[in-house]
Amino acid sequence: MELEVSSNNKPRVAFLPCPGMGHMIPHFEFAKLLVKNHNILVSFLVITTDASAAQNQFFESPNIPQGIRIVNIPPADMSNIIDENTLVLSRICLTVQESLKPLRSILAEVNPKVLIIDLFTSEAIDLAKQLSISVYTFTTASAGFLAFSLYLPTLDREVEEEFVDLPHPINVPGCRPERIEDLLDQVRNRKIDEYKWFLFHMDRLRLADGIFENSWEDLEPLALKAVREHAFFKSIQTPPVYPIGPLIKPDEFIAEKDAKIIAWLDNQPPDSVLFVVFGSGGTLTSEQLTELAWGLEMSEQRFILVARKPSDASASAAYFNVGNDQNDDPSVYLPEGFVERTKRVGIIVSSWAPQAAILGHGSTGAFLSHCGWNSCLESLSHGVPILAWPLYAEQKMNATQLEDGVDVAVKPVVQKGEKKVIGREEIERVVRLIMEGEEGMVLRSRAKQLKLSAEKALSYGGSSYNSVCRVVDIWKSLI
Ligand code: UDP
Repeated sequence: MELEVSSNNKPRVAFLPCPGMGHMIPHFEFAKLLVKNHNILVSFLVITTDASAAQNQFFESPNIPQGIRIVNIPPADMSNIIDENTLVLSRICLTVQESLKPLRSILAEVNPKVLIIDLFTSEAIDLAKQLSISVYTFTTASAGFLAFSLYLPTLDREVEEEFVDLPHPINVPGCRPERIEDLLDQVRNRKIDEYKWFLFHMDRLRLADGIFENSWEDLEPLALKAVREHAFFKSIQTPPVYPIGPLIKPDEFIAEKDAKIIAWLDNQPPDSVLFVVFGSGGTLTSEQLTELAWGLEMSEQRFILVARKPSDASASAAYFNVGNDQNDDPSVYLPEGFVERTKRVGIIVSSWAPQAAILGHGSTGAFLSHCGWNSCLESLSHGVPILAWPLYAEQKMNATQLEDGVDVAVKPVVQKGEKKVIGREEIERVVRLIMEGEEGMVLRSRAKQLKLSAEKALSYGGSSYNSVCRVVDIWKSLI
C-alpha cells in the first residue's frame, strides 16, 4: 500500500519492530493510535526474513489504515549465518543485524523525524543519531522486565558467577525481588550468545530519547515508579519512561476459516470457556501435550485448544513459522480418540486462532496462557483471569508477577524432576479451580477491575493517553 507522504506539517514517524508477532502487533497498534488520534504519518518498516504465515496474513488484512505505509525491508540471506541450532534470540538479533544493512538508504527515503525501535533493533540508534532522527524504544514487555533490563549491565559488572547460582533473589532497585527460578532464559547462561545479545541490546536502552512502555500505572505501579524516580535509575541516566498501554489488537479481522470458532462461542454460556494457546511460537513436548489433553478432558470444562505439532527440542519451536501448518491434523499428535470424545465441549484449532476476538468474547471465562506480555495484556484488557503456564523468554517473571503481585493468575504445580512435566491431575485441578472454583471467581473479579482501569488509562485524560500526548507535543515542536 503506497501513501503520499507529502504533507509537511505532519510529523513523520518510522517504526522498526523486530521479527515475531509479539513485537509486530503492539508496534502496529501504537502506529495506528498515532495516525488516528494524533494525525501523524507512519512508515512501518517490516523485517521480512523468515516471515511466518501469521505475519503475512496480518499485513494483508484490510484493516491497515490510511496514514500507515508498510515498507518491507528486503529479506537478508541468512543461510550461512544461522542454522537450526541457533537459539531464538540470537536468531532474531542476527536477522535484524543483516536486514538492517540497507537501513541508511531506507531512512533517507522515508525521511522520518522520529524512529521508534524495539528492544532488539537498537543497532539503529547510532545511524538515527547521525541522521538527527529522534529515537524512542517501545518496550513490548512489562515494566518489571524493563527495570530488570536497565539494571542488567550493572548486575553484569558486579556479579561474577552465573546469576542462576546466586543464593538469593535479585534485588532490582525499587522493584519486587526477582526470584532466581523466574529469571529469563537469556540470562541463565552468561557464556552463550543468547546472553551476549540480550546484554548488548539492554545496555543500549539508555541511549534512546525516551522509552514507551506497554503497561499502565495501575498494573505495575512499583516498577514504573522505580524506573522514573529511583536514584539508581536516575544515576544511569534512564531516559523518560512513558507508560502508554495496554496497546492490544482491538479490532481483529476474522478470517473465514475462524468464523466457526466465534459462532461456536456464541452458543456457549457466559464465562464458561477456557481458551488455551501458548503465544505465537510456544510448543509443548509430546508428553506434555498428552498430559494437557487428558487434563482438559478430565476437567469436563468447555475449551478452545490451539494445538501445535509438539517439539521435544524447543519450547519456542514455532516462533518463526507459526501459522505455516494451519492445515495440519491435530488429532495425529493428540491422544487417540481425544478429538471425538471432547467434541461436545471443545474445539481444537490447528496452530493459530483469533486470540483477541476469543478473549473479548463473553463466553470466554479463563485463559491458559504462556504469559507472553501481549497475551497478558489482552487477557486483562478483556477481564479474563489467567492460568499461567510460562514457557520461555521472560514469561516466568510475568507469570509470577500476575499470580503474586497483580492477583489475577494461578500457576499449576510442575512435577519435580528433569522433565518438568505438569501432570494431568494437576491440570484438571487448576482448570476446575479457575473455571468453577471460588478462587476462580475472585481472580475473575480482579481481572474485571483491571479491565476497567485499563479502559480508563487509555481514554481521554487517562494516564496512558496523556503519556502519548506529552511525547507527541515534543515531536510536533521538532517540525
Ligand atoms: N496470537 C494470536 N493467535 C494465536 C497465538 C497468538 O492472535 O493463536 C497473538 C496474540 O493475540 C498476541 C501475540 O500473538 O498478540 C503473542 O504475543 P505474546 O507477547 O503473548 O507472546 P509471544 O508470541 O511473543 O511469545
